[in-house]
Amino acid sequence: TKWVYFFGAGQTEGRADMKNLLGGKGANLAEMANLGIEVPPGFTITTEACNEFYRRGKRWPEGLEEQVKENLRKLEQAMGRRFGDPANPLLVSVRSGARVSMPGMMDTVLNLGLNDVTVQGLARQSNNERFAYDSYRRFIQMYGDVVLGVPRHLFEERLDAKKKARGVTEDPQLSAQDLRELVEEFKGIVRQQKGQAFPEDPWEQLRGAIDAVFNSWNNPRAIKYREIHHIPGDWGTAVNVQAMVFGNMGEDSGTGVAFTRNPSTGVKEFYGEILINAQGEDVVAGIRTPLPVAVLKEKMPHVYAQLEEINKRLEAAYRDMLDIEFTVQQGKLYMLQCRVGKRTAMAAVRIAVEMAQEGLIDRQTAVLRVAPEQIDQLLHPTIDPSARVEAVAKGLPASPGAAVGQLAFFADDAERMADEGKKVVLIRAETSPEDIGGMYKAQGILTSRGGMTSHAAVVARGMGKPCVVGCGALDIDEKRKIVRVNGRELREGDWITIDGSTGNVYVGQVPLVQPELSGYFATLLEWADEFRALGVRANADTPTDARTARQFGAQGIGLCRTEHMFFGEGRIIPMREMILSDTKEERERALAKLLPLQRGDFYEIFKEMLGHPVVIRLLDPPLHEFLPKEPGAVAEVAREMGVTPEVIESRSRALAEANPMLGLRGCRLGIVYPEIYEMQTRAIFEAACRVAKEGHEIEPEVMIPLVGTPGELAFLKERCQKVAEQVMAEQGVRLPYRIGTMIEVPRAALVADEIAREAQFFSFGTNDLTQMTLGFSRDDVGKYVPTYVEMGLLKADPFQTLDVEGVGQLVKMGVERGKQANPDLVVGICGEHGGDPASVWFFHEAGLDYVSCSPYRVPVARLAAAQANL
Ligand code: ADP
Ligand code: MG
Ligand code: MG
Repeated sequence: TKWVYFFGAGQTEGRADMKNLLGGKGANLAEMANLGIEVPPGFTITTEACNEFYRRGKRWPEGLEEQVKENLRKLEQAMGRRFGDPANPLLVSVRSGARVSMPGMMDTVLNLGLNDVTVQGLARQSNNERFAYDSYRRFIQMYGDVVLGVPRHLFEERLDAKKKARGVTEDPQLSAQDLRELVEEFKGIVRQQKGQAFPEDPWEQLRGAIDAVFNSWNNPRAIKYREIHHIPGDWGTAVNVQAMVFGNMGEDSGTGVAFTRNPSTGVKEFYGEILINAQGEDVVAGIRTPLPVAVLKEKMPHVYAQLEEINKRLEAAYRDMLDIEFTVQQGKLYMLQCRVGKRTAMAAVRIAVEMAQEGLIDRQTAVLRVAPEQIDQLLHPTIDPSARVEAVAKGLPASPGAAVGQLAFFADDAERMADEGKKVVLIRAETSPEDIGGMYKAQGILTSRGGMTSHAAVVARGMGKPCVVGCGALDIDEKRKIVRVNGRELREGDWITIDGSTGNVYVGQVPLVQPELSGYFATLLEWADEFRALGVRANADTPTDARTARQFGAQGIGLCRTEHMFFGEGRIIPMREMILSDTKEERERALAKLLPLQRGDFYEIFKEMLGHPVVIRLLDPPLHEFLPKEPGAVAEVAREMGVTPEVIESRSRALAEANPMLGLRGCRLGIVYPEIYEMQTRAIFEAACRVAKEGHEIEPEVMIPLVGTPGELAFLKERCQKVAEQVMAEQGVRLPYRIGTMIEVPRAALVADEIAREAQFFSFGTNDLTQMTLGFSRDDVGKYVPTYVEMGLLKADPFQTLDVEGVGQLVKMGVERGKQANPDLVVGICGEHGGDPASVWFFHEAGLDYVSCSPYRVPVARLAAAQANL
């Protein structure tokens, strides 16, 4: 088996499309070399070797050692240096790299091959003793930490002590002599911690580092990261062994991390950070504050020009925005990494649209580039601009969107508080991979240290969380869980607001506003609309919802729930009167009060949705939801109805049910108390007639809920038709109209053909359908569904993502049988699933005509529907 692939020096064996085998880093290093970009040569040990390593009980696969040695010789030849050579030593880095990047999960060792002898060779060769010993002490530190497991802080403390003793603050201020001493001290730490000397044999060093990378695939942080991001454990990681280049050789050297376009905003500009006279890890670790890459324009103009040229070449090759890592050694530029860059939703949208406009990609590709789950971010709130608030501090805007939450100082606190149902903002000096769980559960993340490429920034952007980093004004006392900021003192649980778009931090709960659809986002969704077959409507109960829905591009209302109207001001009383009526007369008296209210609502909604279908569902929920509970409310209803509170209480008791969700609700109400549906139908048609008289075309659609038998629908349809005809006769208006039903009782899906003969449209009520098919109470799922998901008994919460194998069969069956029996039948879905991308995909495949979801999910559904059709 071929376990090792060479790259660079004109002998590259890999390609960009070999990520599964070579890992992302290895495949892209090979690709850059293929593109003729300067990459220090090296070789990649495959992910298969890593898997084989685990299969063999953590022993190297057969033949790997020979292949590594062979490639090392090839590398020596390419570099004109020898591994372990006292005069002319080859130094390498050992870098992990899985198929997808896992920030900070795997550890890299630099300057490998140094020992007491080769360090002198390096010093003589570079004519720079300071540099040689700086590299050596870094090597011992990194190798000690990553490979030997010596606590990192032991080295850091010694380094700090040395700086203090010399009266300096920055690493580059230490002299060669200081560093030489540090090397000895570091070796002492290793000896003391491990009971054996630091390995001087380069081959032993290399073997150990490769083992460490293999092993890091299964360290707890990596496992946790894979869990959150659904990355299979059997992908394995590749190992890259690469000739070192040095950014720590003086003021004409440095190391940088950048993006070909701005990953926060998407603006087409070279964006990133550089540290002069430093080595790789320094940037990411946030030890020193990096400078914007733009400084290279002045400091090293030829390097900057080269970088711009490389960016263009990389974007043309990858047809995407890239994240690059590079090092400048004495004025010469080397590329060390490139990969498709992580970006915020805002940036993703802008980059996709602009790249299509530039001709780098076509519109289909642009539409496919943006994950529907991700654009949810753009539909997140921002700080209300009219809120008169003063920021208490300002940091770097690392990931946009505003978040309000209670302070948590540690990741596990954040997790615990979030599990208690609290909204949390996680505050840390800086985050590390151990914090991933808490970051995931938090509304937003705030750090006092680090830059735009710090761990917190990168991870938050990936998760789509609002994040502010490097907010230096924060003085965090972790032990006491207190943060002081500009004279204020905040503790765990105190409210804070962060704005990841500006970097502002506010004390307290700042009001937020909902976003609008405009600019690049609107353009992308217009393109999406060209590619989709599935219609997208909204669930909207009020004129305001209807307006929002239109703004987000809904093509009508798929579900208008009439019951929500009854909770409004001045409405609950007549509603209660209606429910608690004893006689038909009493009930009709109450309904007469409700009629004008409903008529007014429907009129407003129709006006908002002119030219688009509006499906109005007749009363659905169990009546007990409307019963007065507190004594005050009981007394009020009693007064209104002219009876004693005792009478009201006893009637309430009589209405109580053991299992209300399976009780007197939906069409059963309409059958037991026909006056209710008659009043609602009258309100719908009176409103529609008024709209028609104003000169608009209108076709109201009346939807009967919870039907399980064709007989139920036939009975209610006839009564509705009677009222409709009556109203139209009274008003002297003729309207087209439709009567249809929800499919939400499993029986309805089973006998969909019979029901379709009575219905002009179906709308799958997937919330109830899921509840009744799985037998999971919608209102109590929190008690066990998360456990099921964790244990893998369920793939996802079936109330969020449709259970395709089970409930999906009923949907498919319902569509097929329904359309067969009635070819004109229009079929939609109006459960929560209508805004869930994976479910939208399924509804497209199942041949539905449209999905209907909450107004804020409409853009998500539009994009998902387009992608399902591409
Ligand atoms: P990560 O996957 O965490 O980004 P990398 O393997 O990219 O880790 O290594 C981190 C940094 O180490 C790189 O960005 C680069 O600056 C530095 N580095 C890695 N290999 C080399 C090398 N051969 N020469 C110089 N610097 C290197
Ligand atoms: Mg890297
Ligand atoms: Mg329902």
